[in-house]
Amino acid sequence: MQIHDLIGIGFGPSNISLAITLEEKKQEGYEIDAFFIEKQPNFAWHANMMLDNTHMQISFLKDLATLRNPSSHFTFINYLHQKQRLQDFINLKTFFPSRHEFNDYLAWAASHFDDRCAYGEEVLEVLPEKRNDEVTLLRVRSRDSQGAIRERFARNLIVSVGGVPRIPECFHHLRNDGRIFHSNSYLREIARHGNAEKIAVVGAGQSAAEIFMDLHNRPDAPHVDLIMRARAIKPSDDSPFVNEIFNADFTDFIFSRSEPDRTALLEEVWHTNYAAPDLVLIEQIFNAFYQQRVTGDLRHRFLRRHEVGSVRTLPEGRIELLLRDLNTDREYNALYDVVVLATGYRRDYHKSLLRPLSPYMGSFTVDRHYRLKSTPNFHPAIFLQGACEETHGLSDTLLSVIAVRTDEIGHALFDTIEQKDVSQAGSQIRAVANQ
Ligand SMILES: Cc1cc2nc3c(=O)[nH]c(=O)nc-3n(C[C@H](O)[C@H](O)[C@H](O)COP(=O)(O)OP(=O)(O)OC[C@H]3O[C@@H](n4cnc5c(N)ncnc54)[C@H](O)[C@@H]3O)c2cc1C
Repeated sequence: MQIHDLIGIGFGPSNISLAITLEEKKQEGYEIDAFFIEKQPNFAWHANMMLDNTHMQISFLKDLATLRNPSSHFTFINYLHQKQRLQDFINLKTFFPSRHEFNDYLAWAASHFDDRCAYGEEVLEVLPEKRNDEVTLLRVRSRDSQGAIRERFARNLIVSVGGVPRIPECFHHLRNDGRIFHSNSYLREIARHGNAEKIAVVGAGQSAAEIFMDLHNRPDAPHVDLIMRARAIKPSDDSPFVNEIFNADFTDFIFSRSEPDRTALLEEVWHTNYAAPDLVLIEQIFNAFYQQRVTGDLRHRFLRRHEVGSVRTLPEGRIELLLRDLNTDREYNALYDVVVLATGYRRDYHKSLLRPLSPYMGSFTVDRHYRLKSTPNFHPAIFLQGACEETHGLSDTLLSVIAVRTDEIGHALFDTIEQKDVSQAGSQIRAVANQ
């Protein structure tokens, strides 16, 4: 039976960055056997939101490696150099590459680890392997693309599975209706509804804004209602002093605060990341609404200060939303062919994957190094990436601190392995002494 030192669930930017860190640690004499499991058939970064003309919302210098090791092979600059585009990229005069290009960079980085990642396998659950009352190993159960169940064993685990679509409660009963879908599957699903004439986009963030513009620019010219509770679409504030909250050292600051302080701080800066599209995009949307007033072709509606009260499907095949105008308290029905929910993500998926371990995990809290706290008889170290916003700040779900975070996790992992080696050596010595 092969036992990996570390299994990583998911092979998105967080775990690719970790694979790079571990690779580079070999030069310092640290070597472990790490293996990753990714449910997509190959690397893809938010493929269903890979829209034309979309750009990174973060500097390319916050790539997979630069902030940890600017001389790494895996920096975005070296990727450009390898692809012979460095000079031309400089002439673009931007810190914000297109999402297409950043996806290509991430895929290039991921391709270096093809022998260490099983693609097309979805991890279903992680189970404890016990010796007497002690949990010494983890059994990672996954399903491959043929439906076959596989099991692997790990001494340690890192869960970097990203977010799961947040579906507002009033849509829950229709979550399997193909005409109502989350932005997470936008390109795939909208391709199936090419003849939709009337579309509702629910949400006020970057994805809602991008989807609105994508639909606006489509040749089949659907009518779009952009529905949000907010009074105005506000831009993300990326001015320098505000941006400091995404610095790696801010993580120490926020982690060291009391829980009420942290909550207050997160509320204060919430808008820098959520419900805050880029200003350029907001201007494009404003222009689209302005131009339709000029032409008199009122294709779209901006339903600000609106809330969806309830949803039902009608026998003739359309979707009826009960809309509440929050300014007037007036309620009315509106009919759509398709509803897109650009309603964000939940970050609690790890809890269902790790459910069989919950007797050892308490309330699933992490320490400063992203390691889940566990009972003394639970020995594997389990780290989380992208699920620690409450304790580690807003940068946790973004690319901002990825390179530095994987360095911190790498150190914690090697410390754990060394401690286990020492205690195992100790128990061997004790065993010999007892003979
Ligand atoms: C459209 C969009 C644009 C964004 N743009 C930016 C940006 O410009 N800048 C920024 O900083 N952040 C951006 N983000 C935030 C985003 O979270 C990060 O960019 C980044 O993707 C986080 O990497 P991750 O590896 O933690 O998560 P993800 O990229 O979500 O990767 C998680 C991986 O785990 C896999 N997985 C999930 N469950 C399982 C399972 N059970 N078994 C096996 N594999 C599994 C998934 O298939 C996925 O590949 C964007 C997010 C979206 C949705």
